[in-house]
Amino acid sequence: MSTVTISEDEFLRLKEKAGEVIKRDPTQCLAIGHTWKFIGGANAGCGETCSCSVPVHECIVCGDCDYGDNDEGNDTRQECALLDHNDEAHP
Ligand SMILES: [Zn+2]
Ligand SMILES: [Zn+2]
Repeated sequence: MSTVTISEDEFLRLKEKAGEVIKRDPTQCLAIGHTWKFIGGANAGCGETCSCSVPVHECIVCGDCDYGDNDEGNDTRQECALLDHNDEAHP
């Protein structure tokens, strides 16, 4: 019971609450490079029989969600495209 560690998430929320302007602006998001946190997986949506999942991230500042539209997701979809969607063979 000594120090309280807050996450960047918490920190930014507090800053926002305190009225510090953190613009919810996607261009700023890219320019400044907000922190995106992993919030779960989503279907990659690469094919009807496909069950790939891609990681979904949310910007802790803007609250934006990438819905799996990220490098990792792109990789997954690319790899999937190289595979035939044989139900069994597909991980
Ligand atoms: Zn952002
Ligand atoms: Zn797939």
